[in-house]
Amino acid sequence: MNFCSDCGNAVIKKIPEGDNRERHVCVTCEVIHYQNPKVIAGVLPIYGDQILLCKRSIEPRHGFWTLPAGFLENGESSLDGALRECVEEANAHVVNPELYALFDIPQINQVYVFYRAHLAEPVFGPSSESSEVALFSEADIPWSELAFPVVELALDHFLKDRQTGDFLVKHEQIQRPWRSRRNP
Ligand SMILES: [Zn+2]
Repeated sequence: MNFCSDCGNAVIKKIPEGDNRERHVCVTCEVIHYQNPKVIAGVLPIYGDQILLCKRSIEPRHGFWTLPAGFLENGESSLDGALRECVEEANAHVVNPELYALFDIPQINQVYVFYRAHLAEPVFGPSSESSEVALFSEADIPWSELAFPVVELALDHFLKDRQTGDFLVKHEQIQRPWRSRRNP
């Protein structure tokens, strides 16, 4: 950040009085511009024994497969954001969503929230963000072509939990560099 979004003048980095870390502070109007992690909400859409994945047609990770997920909008709950992303990216409406995973990635200031949910019908399709949308059985999941570590982690947990039917909510911190569990 170089300029104040309130008055347009220059900002500097300094520790405001009573604070304990550097912030962008406007030299003119003295507004402190706090920067905080972003929340990304997504869905793990299930149909029968298959999982819905989207092939990204945008950067980052163009051409790689992902679960529908995206940045929360202001005024939106994490669940509403997850369901919206599922419609926007996969043209899929899901039912019975349940909180499934919270993944922290402090190195890049992101928090992911995933919901398990079900497709009532196998209705979905490509979008401006996904060149392909498809259902995958466990044996067909493209582990080496997944877009992000959180996608692999969510799928890995889900497939293990499915063997017991016990889908406890997961909470993990993603380590970077990422060491894949499926593609060592
Ligand atoms: Zn200012």
